Amino acid sequence: MKTIGLLGGMSWESTVTYYQTINRIVGRELGGLHSARIAMHSVEFHEIQELQHVGKWHETGVILADAAKSIERAGADLLVLCTNTMHIVAPQIEAATNLPFLHIADATAACIKAQGIDRIGLLGTRFTMEEEFYRGRLESNHGLSVVTPNAGDRTIVHRVIYEELCRGKVDAASRAEYARIVAALIADGAQGVILGCTEIGLLLRQEDSPVPLFDTAHIHAEAAALAALA
Ligand code: GLU
Repeated sequence: MKTIGLLGGMSWESTVTYYQTINRIVGRELGGLHSARIAMHSVEFHEIQELQHVGKWHETGVILADAAKSIERAGADLLVLCTNTMHIVAPQIEAATNLPFLHIADATAACIKAQGIDRIGLLGTRFTMEEEFYRGRLESNHGLSVVTPNAGDRTIVHRVIYEELCRGKVDAASRAEYARIVAALIADGAQGVILGCTEIGLLLRQEDSPVPLFDTAHIHAEAAALAALA
């Protein structure tokens, strides 16, 4: 079994999901007391999100590239960045080590296409919904058509992520707002919706949506576990 490198802490609330999901899959596949080999570096999220919100992406990349190097030194065989948003600096992180990098959008696109879906809704931080690094990859590399909420709804989705979910707060009124926004994406032609922020799965469940939800934290963690066992 390979050692999975987890670059987490963004936020730690969703890194828990990765840790648990990976270990459960390895236990399920190998049985008994088997568990995953993991080398994790969990960053201080306060400084990362401060830099994000003033557009200092290069500086966040320097921090994450250093963290990736420490994961490589700890003996990892592959690298998993436990956040969608920070894939904005994936090229900087990938260049810092020799580790194979499992891109979250590629793992997610594979699941979407396996269900025969080609028009997909995307929820995530403002950065993930609006910048090219994520939707551009889904569209250019995977041939998907991506639908995002209107500007007002993008503000709501972004605010709930940073003010609630990354702080461990799961609120019924916010769940209802997200369900309303999912319905608007469906009205816009979405055949499924990407939970393109690793904390959204803490709030929104499949039963809140009439179309398939693609929880990136679970999909990415499962891809990591299967890669480690391959
Ligand atoms: N975990 C979130 C994501 O998947 C947002 C937190 C962050 O800014 O990294 O995008």
